[in-house]
Amino acid sequence: MREVVTRFPPEPNGYLHIGHAKSICLNFELADDFGGKTNLRFDDTNPLKEDAEYVRAIQEDVRWLGFQWDRLCFASDYFEQMYERALLLIRKGLAYVCDLSAQEIRQTRGTLTQPGVESPYRNRTVDENLELFGRMRQGEFASGERVLRARIDMASPNINLRDPVLYRIAHATHHRTGDAWCIYPMYDYAHPLEDAIEGVTHSICTLEFADHRPFYDWVIRECEMPVASKQYEFARLNMTHTVMSKRKFKLLVEEGVVDGWDDPRMPTISGLRRKGYTPESIRNFCREIGVAKSYSVVDERMLEHFVREDLKLRALRTMAVIDPLKVVITNYPDGQIEWLEAENNSENEALGTRQIPFSKVLYIERDDFTETPPPKYFRLFPGNEVRLKHAYFIRCQEVIKDAHGRVVELRCTYDPETKSGSGFTGRKVKGTLHWVEAGHAQKAEFRLFEPLVGDIADEEATSTPSDDDQTVQDADRAFLGELNPTSLRIFQGFVEPGMKEAKPYDKFQFFRHGYFSVDPVLTSADRLVFNRVVSLKSSFEV
Ligand code: ATP
Ligand code: MG
Repeated sequence: MREVVTRFPPEPNGYLHIGHAKSICLNFELADDFGGKTNLRFDDTNPLKEDAEYVRAIQEDVRWLGFQWDRLCFASDYFEQMYERALLLIRKGLAYVCDLSAQEIRQTRGTLTQPGVESPYRNRTVDENLELFGRMRQGEFASGERVLRARIDMASPNINLRDPVLYRIAHATHHRTGDAWCIYPMYDYAHPLEDAIEGVTHSICTLEFADHRPFYDWVIRECEMPVASKQYEFARLNMTHTVMSKRKFKLLVEEGVVDGWDDPRMPTISGLRRKGYTPESIRNFCREIGVAKSYSVVDERMLEHFVREDLKLRALRTMAVIDPLKVVITNYPDGQIEWLEAENNSENEALGTRQIPFSKVLYIERDDFTETPPPKYFRLFPGNEVRLKHAYFIRCQEVIKDAHGRVVELRCTYDPETKSGSGFTGRKVKGTLHWVEAGHAQKAEFRLFEPLVGDIADEEATSTPSDDDQTVQDADRAFLGELNPTSLRIFQGFVEPGMKEAKPYDKFQFFRHGYFSVDPVLTSADRLVFNRVVSLKSSFEV
């Protein structure tokens, strides 16, 4: 038995997303289970869409997920070998130079019920083909003027075998090979060769490539590759409330809908990282959804469930007021500061305790107060008493408004007998509010997110690199009409003083608000920005 070798083969035409994470976990963990190896291979055969920045970002993301590749490979390193194999196909009478335009090739390909029409150039002699292909390489023809096609069967029930294109002309500078080449291999021709050259045993791809498998096998056989790789297909990941395609994410970036590839609203790996996801939560999610042969759409709340589980015991539980309303405790001594003991995580004692200040002036959450309480409203309203977490009971005595009638301050009284931890049992209150002491509070910005798009699942599950560009591009743009206008909401508020020291990616559970992570891009010496990773509760159970 050969050693198991897998590969993760991204095209460097964008940043990786959560769907790629599924493929990464599958490839790396499968090889690992069998004591094998996994290569990271850049499928860089289309210079028009690729960039060195993506090559860098993809490596960073794979490493961050916790995987180390055996070899770092580039399809472009095999261009010469691929060219040699193409010459072999020509000599065997299995490839020819075709002068039809892309549109003519499409029109003569036939349909599922009708055979295709043979190209008038199909019966060129071997010598003529060798000469023309050599001249294609030399740059004698314009982009798109000629292609090299496999010579298989225009009547095949499998459209992928109707003389597919092997090489096209593109006068473009490649991010690695520069201007050394002006002909580039097509994905369906290049991929099997890349696998075979690297000795990949299990070439794992998504279901839409199932119909390409006969051509995959044809290339390996007819190119006389010494080692045969086998293709296996699995269902791609689709998730509710998001599209799932590099091309579509690229549109969001280019149209300025988001801040960049790492915008926390993007289900890219870098977006999830910036939002505050952990590698463990993503790996656990990928394990849970499993590998199947049938198409399905995963509820995005399942991904949220895994980050909540992961942060539950790790994150410090502190208080943050996202939309502040000032509270003055009228019977509390002027200028007095009391330091109260608070546990850092009630479910994990190992995280210890901290001291938080309490004084006459505090902030509470604006929507924890109402003048006209609906039934069963247990938070603050005139005359009502609530508990302040880790501190005292307070009662609302007076409401102060500005000239526009907006509530700007609450005057309250506190009861010294009710101090948290004192064993007070005199009376009970139903509401417990979070708060921050005003004098010591640390200013902070909070970013709350909602899905970018409405409830549409990714519908491009059937498009592959060999599909027509224009059709794909038009379909790609459709979702831009479905964007959610409230996908980002920004608030200016306060956190506890101890959080002045918070560093990028530090994670907290803010009492009643959910899990937050310090934004690595927007945070600076005088600006502290938190992204909400996920709210506390969800109706979803795994
Ligand atoms: P896009 O269409 O978004 O650009 P892609 O499939 O073309 O994505 P590649 O760079 O070609 O992206 O993909 C690298 C690997 O990741 C491939 O093996 C592909 O099958 C896999 N992959 C891509 N999207 C998903 C997904 N949603 N679920 C699972 N695997 C995926
Ligand atoms: Mg693709």
